[in-house]
Amino acid sequence: MAEFEIIHKHFAPLAGKGAGGLLDDGAVLDIPGGQQLVVTSDTSNRGDHFVDELPPEDAAKKCLRSNISDLAAMGADPFAYQLNLALPKEIDEGWLAAFAKGLEADQKEFGIFLSGGDTTAMSAGALSVSITAFGLVSEGKAVSRGGAHAGDLAVVTGPLGDAFLDRMRIPYPRTAIAPLIRQYAKAAVDISDGLPADLGHICEVSGLAAQVELAKIPFSKKVHEAMHSGTKTPQDILTWGEDYELALAVAPGDFDSFKTEAGKQGVELSAIGVFEGGTPDVRVMDKNGEALIFEKTGWQHF
Ligand SMILES: [Mg+2]
Repeated sequence: MAEFEIIHKHFAPLAGKGAGGLLDDGAVLDIPGGQQLVVTSDTSNRGDHFVDELPPEDAAKKCLRSNISDLAAMGADPFAYQLNLALPKEIDEGWLAAFAKGLEADQKEFGIFLSGGDTTAMSAGALSVSITAFGLVSEGKAVSRGGAHAGDLAVVTGPLGDAFLDRMRIPYPRTAIAPLIRQYAKAAVDISDGLPADLGHICEVSGLAAQVELAKIPFSKKVHEAMHSGTKTPQDILTWGEDYELALAVAPGDFDSFKTEAGKQGVELSAIGVFEGGTPDVRVMDKNGEALIFEKTGWQHF
């Protein structure tokens, strides 16, 4: 199948306004007045970021959602995305059709459209999906990792850890509370690499330490059971990542209103600890008040 056939058949139907049916060299996108674009990229390679057995619809969703989650962490509403595919030369058309179907479903779910991209073939049967997503925020309202202050609460959406127990799980990014993040969060990050690593990014950029209590971290019943039975350790659960929940810094006086309003959007917030002055570092305390020792803080690419 030729590149243009693939694009015409599977991806042109996903193109939104300004993308010219993917017939031009580039898209021309109108940005609503007073808004800024938040731009983020995330690459997923088959075998490393999604398992071979994952159905192509779900693989598409996982790849797109990891980008949408980054937008949510910045307080941005989903707008458009570029899709760059490196496919094995022998890709079967059924896979592509199902992959496009997954994207189509998520475009409706999250209000985002395809604005362009590139499709190439790669030797050795590898498959790589690289997405650049664009989100919208009112001017000056994007949330960064650097705005936390000593005394702010460390807050997470949850539950965490289910992605570790179920590698086939498809995350659900927290775009529903993007407007509330703009309003209430002083700093934010999505939890893609593991809580200590990702919360650590806020600490590094904000120049703070954080202390969190294991007992306050929201876990599902399944994850609790796995930890209590001793088959999985807190390190296993917390450093896997892939949950695509959010970690936030919130002023103590704002937490109750934020929690109530997020609850109305179906998102549960938990205050798990506090940011404080000191060398950037995340300490996870057990029920005896002892810091857990982790050999690693999160997923490492290299
Ligand atoms: Mg991220």
